[in-house]
Amino acid sequence: MSHYDFDLFVIGAGSGGVRASRMAAGFGARVGVAEDLYLGGTCVNVGCVPKKLFAYSAHYSEDFEDAKGYGWDLPDAHFDWSALLENKNQEIARLNGIYRNMLKASGVTIMDARARFIDSHTLQVGDKQVTAEHILIATGGWPHIPEFPGSEHVISSNEVFHLETLPKRILVVGGGYIAIEFASIFHGMQREVSLLYRGELFLRGFDTSLREHMAATIKHKGIDLRFNADVRNIERQADGSLLVTLKDGTTLETDLVLYATGRKPNLKGLGLENTAVTLDDKGFIAVNTDYETQDPGIYAIGDVTDTLQLTPVALAEGMALARRLFQPADYVPVDYRDIPTAVFCIPNIATLGLTEEQAREAGHALNIYESRFRPMRNTLAGRGEESLMKMIVDKASDRVLGVHMIGPDAGEIVQGMAVALKAGATKAMFDATLGIHPTAAEEFVTMRTPTRSD
Ligand code: FAD
Repeated sequence: MSHYDFDLFVIGAGSGGVRASRMAAGFGARVGVAEDLYLGGTCVNVGCVPKKLFAYSAHYSEDFEDAKGYGWDLPDAHFDWSALLENKNQEIARLNGIYRNMLKASGVTIMDARARFIDSHTLQVGDKQVTAEHILIATGGWPHIPEFPGSEHVISSNEVFHLETLPKRILVVGGGYIAIEFASIFHGMQREVSLLYRGELFLRGFDTSLREHMAATIKHKGIDLRFNADVRNIERQADGSLLVTLKDGTTLETDLVLYATGRKPNLKGLGLENTAVTLDDKGFIAVNTDYETQDPGIYAIGDVTDTLQLTPVALAEGMALARRLFQPADYVPVDYRDIPTAVFCIPNIATLGLTEEQAREAGHALNIYESRFRPMRNTLAGRGEESLMKMIVDKASDRVLGVHMIGPDAGEIVQGMAVALKAGATKAMFDATLGIHPTAAEEFVTMRTPTRSD
């Protein structure tokens, strides 16, 4: 046994930190974890989970509209933000309790305090000092709001989950998935929503067909989309509303401004200056492929490093590191290819593997299969909205390189496709698979003729 208090001490009990702690303890290591805000981290408290609960809530307004075509009349439906918030808070408290019990049951020592490095093996955790042979930094990210005149009037995704009231008019600024999700959520909650993005088209990095289709879809729903636009300043008016002046001089009145313009690594007060840990040129903790920092014995995983900012990625990294340190015989490095991901806007976007642009850049000659159709559910509902499904296939090998979808439950559908791609599925294998009828998902196994072929 080492002379340190712990074999592994983890800073941050978010997605990656909790997984690494529990796994390491399961392998027999003496593990401690420090968390100063909330067990479960961003995902459970101010990220994936409450966001998805809000998205479920937002969906009801369309469901109620659609229900009429199916013979249901719901004249009295109205939305109560405080009821949603209270129920959400209860659910999150339940999950916090589950995380605490899971960690305790695994034998992990939980310290509810902020941790700060004193030296490479010593941490100040609240009013205690602890030493550890290995220290894992899993402190995640924090919303970044640029400074400009009036920036004190805007909120980030951290505050949106605790608003006392949800005002009538909301402006969302940003072009990433969090911005699109919240624009959809507020729209579903019957708010007047504007979405402002300084680029040409939102969701940079996603397949262009998806980006264009989504922009057209949410615009048609009534979200005021403004691309190539940016905020110059914001003033609070006498009636409490906000006057937003854009860089082109035009103005917009709103009641709430949500900035979803990216996240920065959460390094505040961590005391990295007392270690040999270095940052990369984007300000993330620099690690090698084994999550080792420049300081032997200190590691970093998840959003505090320059990795894909997704919970399953942080979980996989936590698991891989725990194995590498304490069960090396079972160590399997994380495979970063073909990571599926969804955007829980309405309708959902889900994406997996290469976009058409990435596949071309990689030099593949392609067959592109693209289908736009009105899902059956929308027929009696009287909803004109179309789904989009797209497959990117390498002509030479017939391998499916990418699968992309916009439509109801796209996230649920594309998760299954991810298994197929991991197994190296070819288009011929998709063709040989029978559909489940009648579903939207069966479209993925019935697209026979390429829309475009190189
Ligand atoms: P985190 O989960 O952020 O955990 C870090 C923890 O460290 C925090 O609890 C923090 O309080 C603690 N901490 C920080 N500094 C200290 C310190 N010095 N001492 C003690 N504790 C400290 N991902 C998905 O896969 N799907 C989604 O749908 C999704 N939706 C999202 C929606 C929003 C609005 C946001 C913001 C994120 C979303 N994400 C989603 C991303 C996902 O939440 C993150 O990728 C994931 O939580 C990263 O895990 P992590 O372990 O790196 O850090």
